[in-house]
Amino acid sequence: MLKDSEKERYSRQILFKAFGEEGQEKLKAAKVLIAGVGGLGSPVAMYLATAGIGRLVLVDPDTVSLSNLNRQLLHWETDLGRQKVDSAGEKLGKMNSDIRVTPVAERITRETCRGLLEGADVAVDCLDNMKTRYLLNRACVERGVPLVHGGVYGMLGQVTTILPGGGPCLECIFPRKKERGDKIPVFGPTAGFTASFQALEVIKLLTGIGELLKGRLLYFNGEIMECIFADVKRREDCPGCGDSR
Ligand SMILES: [Zn+2]
Repeated sequence: MLKDSEKERYSRQILFKAFGEEGQEKLKAAKVLIAGVGGLGSPVAMYLATAGIGRLVLVDPDTVSLSNLNRQLLHWETDLGRQKVDSAGEKLGKMNSDIRVTPVAERITRETCRGLLEGADVAVDCLDNMKTRYLLNRACVERGVPLVHGGVYGMLGQVTTILPGGGPCLECIFPRKKERGDKIPVFGPTAGFTASFQALEVIKLLTGIGELLKGRLLYFNGEIMECIFADVKRREDCPGCGDSR
């Protein structure tokens, strides 16, 4: 049940017919894992916290550095050197004191993945490297947890939603190749629009509204303002979700 203050706080989204109070209650009952609270994870967490997702679990092993501040909106100059999950958790708590935010300053590994996904309705991939993405993807496939992927490069952003059962997993779409591990260019607004698409996918996924980016990869090129969709398919021999795993 929603409190009167919640009905008022969320009134502008409750007004959306397909959502209503029922949609708000679904968000309140949901638990979402946000993997990474950097450029993507900051706006994803801000939008999901202010939308009233009942429980957010933030996972990130890193501390805040000066070169994060052009895009990682939850971290400010006064947070330099702090754990990102603490810096993010503190601000999210001030944005919405009705929700529960759990900061986890840990690296995502095969071992930690299981516990982190316990009871999660959806996981959001706001990570910055493919190695950890593959780990999270496999754990989500094994546990049947939907995964909303986001990635950025310069002024390019991409988003897709991986659903358990049938569709492609992240490794079907992006087969493993050697990662160079170089620092990549990123503009704050690129992370912002990509994260906005991810947060909207999470809200739709939890409430059953609209059509998800299932089997579709959205590419947005901010440099020339072009948006394209690529159909993506499951690979039978995929080591992430196929029989050979
Ligand atoms: Zn796969």
